[in-house]
Amino acid sequence: MSSSEYQPILVAGSSQNNTSNLSNSEINKILLIEDNAADARMVELLLVESGMKHCELVVKKSLNAGLISLEEQDDYAAILLDLSLPDSFGFDTLNTVLQQFPNNNVIVLTGQQDRQLGLKALKMGAQDFLIKGNYDANVFLKTIRFSIERKKYLKKIEEAQTRYQNIFTNSKDAIYVCNSEGKLVDFNKSTSVITGYDNSELFGIPIEALFENRNFWDTFQERVFQSKFVVEEEVNIVCKDESIRNCIISAGQLVYGNFVGINGFIRDITERKQAEKLRQDRKIADQTSKLKEQFIASVSHEMRTPMNAILGMSNLVLKTDLDDEQYNYIKNVKNSSEILLGIVNDILEVSSIQAGKVKFTYANFDFHSLMANMINVMQYKVDEKELNLELKIDPSIPRYLEGDQLRLNQILYNLVGNAIKFTDEGEVCITVKLLNESHGSWHVQFEVTDTGIGIPDDKIGVIFETFTRIRSKDRIFEGTGLGLSIAKNLVEYQGGKIWVESEHNVGSTFSFDLIFEEGYEPKLDAPKEDDFDPETTFNLLLCEDHMINRIVATKTLLKQFPNINLVVAENGKLGVEKLKEGDFDIILMDIQMPVMDGYEATQYIRSEMEPEKAQLPILAMTAHANIAEDDKFKEYGMDDYVLKPFKPEQLFSKIGHYVTLKRNKKHRTSS
Ligand code: ADP
Repeated sequence: MSSSEYQPILVAGSSQNNTSNLSNSEINKILLIEDNAADARMVELLLVESGMKHCELVVKKSLNAGLISLEEQDDYAAILLDLSLPDSFGFDTLNTVLQQFPNNNVIVLTGQQDRQLGLKALKMGAQDFLIKGNYDANVFLKTIRFSIERKKYLKKIEEAQTRYQNIFTNSKDAIYVCNSEGKLVDFNKSTSVITGYDNSELFGIPIEALFENRNFWDTFQERVFQSKFVVEEEVNIVCKDESIRNCIISAGQLVYGNFVGINGFIRDITERKQAEKLRQDRKIADQTSKLKEQFIASVSHEMRTPMNAILGMSNLVLKTDLDDEQYNYIKNVKNSSEILLGIVNDILEVSSIQAGKVKFTYANFDFHSLMANMINVMQYKVDEKELNLELKIDPSIPRYLEGDQLRLNQILYNLVGNAIKFTDEGEVCITVKLLNESHGSWHVQFEVTDTGIGIPDDKIGVIFETFTRIRSKDRIFEGTGLGLSIAKNLVEYQGGKIWVESEHNVGSTFSFDLIFEEGYEPKLDAPKEDDFDPETTFNLLLCEDHMINRIVATKTLLKQFPNINLVVAENGKLGVEKLKEGDFDIILMDIQMPVMDGYEATQYIRSEMEPEKAQLPILAMTAHANIAEDDKFKEYGMDDYVLKPFKPEQLFSKIGHYVTLKRNKKHRTSS
């Protein structure tokens, strides 16, 4: 016997060369456990004779040596096993191999003519048997081939099993198996992650114990058994720490062998549900705030229209011959309606700030005139109360700045108005300081100081909040408690800060800071609307459906422009007809009108009429502040707007501006 019998031998149709390229998995390894060298040699020869490709035969002389080799590499395509070995005898040998390596093909080598033994081995789990000394190359080849195929198949099953095991173990969902009594008999890691119980606590417990509703499982299980499968039902799980998780559960009937039970998964959707709820809440909040906004806009519109009439009529009456008593009554009517209008405007402003809809328009403006104007406007209130009003501006601040002058005015009017309102003796002082200048950016601080009633320490923290008013026994204050909140928002939206220092019964100082860009001195070659001569003869078309507003507008215009030719139309359609019949210099267009509204009429004029008329200046008249703010009138082809109730001066100046512009244009085109 040569020692090569006990070495791995490459056999059958394969030279060293053409197998060296093959990977291990492509070579079929066969283990022969045989102590008889002659028998071993016989198998070797048979293998060569059978013409099997890529086979490697490993020969071991004892069971123990065979087991060790199997231990080292458990991928033999077949084990050829002699039952009588030096260290084991008979079926014990087979048993030992099968028990330790169940996923292997064991082909038992039996003694000559001993079929009975072979058949018994099959019953015990051997894959096949071969009778020694009676080897037939064909039978041998078939048996080995079968083993190889079977081994490949087993290997696939094993891989699939590993894959599914991985899915089971690593799934984020809890995967569970219950027996017919509803007891947990198998489950993965996520089951304990979700519930907070460890494996030993979970094993064998009735699954119903996990659900918030203890009756859930009974009916659920019944339905699973009836319809084989129940998909995605919501259920709450009570965790070990007594917290509740929102889950969905799916289940199917599981039957194999004698086992009848249920398996399925439980998915934790607590976070998803919370996110959904948040989304839902936000949607409702959005809808509510939209409704609120619409409500406020339409209520304030409804209020502005009659106030237009009251204010307009009062202005007209004030210009007639009145005795002192009558004059004072009407003056009071006018003042009160102005206050009411201020409140409506404040409410509108707050609602648009809260809706994040404030817009800022940064433009060049004359800072010194703005401050001087404010002092002028406030002067009469100060005089009324016999207070002193002082303005100090740091001389290094340039006269022309770039910023939002309307908003600056609004902030200052609020603070200075309050200072005067809450001061009975002494003075109100406005100081403008330069904090810093760099690269044309001017950082400016405004201070409004008064010697008034001051603010108690415990209230100072809340006065910038909406609707805050400090009660005081001996004073009745007009106001809504919105002014400071608006001022604060307007400052902060522009990147500034606002704050107050105050001493009760001594006085207060409200301060804020803003940054302005450096402005420029405007060139004065454009025609100034102030230059517009009220005696000018011009033609105006007024489209307005509201009777009182029509009267107010007509009377107001006739008073200011004695030579005006005024044509009135009660809706957009009539307006268009009047325009077809005559020549006009300007159109005042109400927006909400029956038959044809202001937008439709404007669109018609702009697109359907001859060029001369299509290009006429059109001023929208609206009580909706946001139409003006959002520049909506521009989208509809209007040139500008006047807000109702209109301030006569503003109306006159806009009319003057556009009539002059139109006349100049005409001169240019005709010359
Ligand atoms: P209102 O329109 O009611 O004046 P504000 O928001 O402007 O609302 O002010 C809120 C409250 O803060 C006032 O009602 C008043 O109690 C207090 N307050 C504001 N400015 C002063 C001030 N200069 N001196 C004393 N109290 C003031």
